[in-house]
Amino acid sequence: MFVTHLECSLTGEHYPAGQPHNLSKAGKPLLVRYDSDRARQTMTRKSLAARQPGMWKWRELLPLAEEVEPVSLGEPETPILPLRVTASKAGADNLLVKDEGRLPTGSFKARGLTMAISMAKQFGIRSVALPTNGNAGAALAAYAARAGMEAVVVCPAETPEINVRETAAYGARVWVADGQIDECGRLIREGAAEGRWFDCSTLKEPYRLEGKKVMGFELVEQLGWKVPDAIFYPTGGGTGLIGMWKAFDELEAVGLIGPERPRMYAIQAAGCAPMVRAFERGDEFAERWEGAATVATGIRVPSAVGDFLILRAVRESGGTAIAVEEQDILQAVEDVARDDGLLLCPEGGAVLAGWRMALESGLVGRDETALLFNCANGNKYPLPDASRRLELGSAEASAL
Ligand SMILES: *Cc1c(COP(=O)(O)O)cnc(C)c1O
Repeated sequence: MFVTHLECSLTGEHYPAGQPHNLSKAGKPLLVRYDSDRARQTMTRKSLAARQPGMWKWRELLPLAEEVEPVSLGEPETPILPLRVTASKAGADNLLVKDEGRLPTGSFKARGLTMAISMAKQFGIRSVALPTNGNAGAALAAYAARAGMEAVVVCPAETPEINVRETAAYGARVWVADGQIDECGRLIREGAAEGRWFDCSTLKEPYRLEGKKVMGFELVEQLGWKVPDAIFYPTGGGTGLIGMWKAFDELEAVGLIGPERPRMYAIQAAGCAPMVRAFERGDEFAERWEGAATVATGIRVPSAVGDFLILRAVRESGGTAIAVEEQDILQAVEDVARDDGLLLCPEGGAVLAGWRMALESGLVGRDETALLFNCANGNKYPLPDASRRLELGSAEASAL
């Protein structure tokens, strides 16, 4: 095993590897630490290039012991695609999207949950649960089904119906509740305390982060072992942003990159922007956002247990936190679909809207490489009704 121990992200207190964990005694996320001297012996650019692409090629820096078979649905390496027309209309050159919608269950929640469920299975856990705005529930349910575990999922109202149905299709017990995601989370936490299931809430168990951090490894290798100038990330719980920031340090520790880092931009919707508010106030922790509302349901997260880790990464990187308006989110989705043929999810639309604001205000240069994250397949969300009836044989039909 390459894991040496886990560490409280606030106090640095150590915890042993090889057993299930939730939050630290201080109530903060635990971070997995690795033996980088050992990992660097086998992790070279050349050896990595020769491995089968996908999440599991980074085994030396993943928590699952090498001899253990992961609970997998075939997680691919996701493509990085240029948005040429969108970029040129904005007068920019190097606009890229990492399209995470290609993963099993149609979102990058699969990265975290393939890891968390693989670890849970290894620990003999039989029942898992989490609160979700939709995508995490579907991924939990799919991997739990594959591992032969029971899954329990509680969603806030306004969770996209397709996610609720998909979650149920995998045999999970799923409910839509009358509150926000953190309120659903309380119910999950209470059930876990009573021993009814294991709490798989993001950052409240340490391994989803380890799955999501692979985005950081992957993008650096895909860009020729270079970091982009700027990364734009749709920030809810912030797991991916925190994970990538950790991944860059780990790549440096094993000698695969130097000290260079991208500027990290945390994008939130104006209707739920606790990180933006905390960033602007100079706070270390973020206050809960009351009355959260946005079409970008994946980032409708009023309070995040990793708030200080998001804020720290954004500040250290020289990036910032940006809030975007609903109409700009919808416009961005529409524009990219028409101009570049890619159907972003609303959270991906938020990210593009954030990049447009950053470009306009000069935070990113027109020739800088900006990497946007699209974290789910656009087909998973309701689209405007564009159906028009046609009577075959009518005059209208022959005049199409
Ligand atoms: C969960 C989710 C996010 C937010 O991810 P975090 O890493 O938890 O901040 C963004 N977009 C989509 C589509 C999601 O499902």
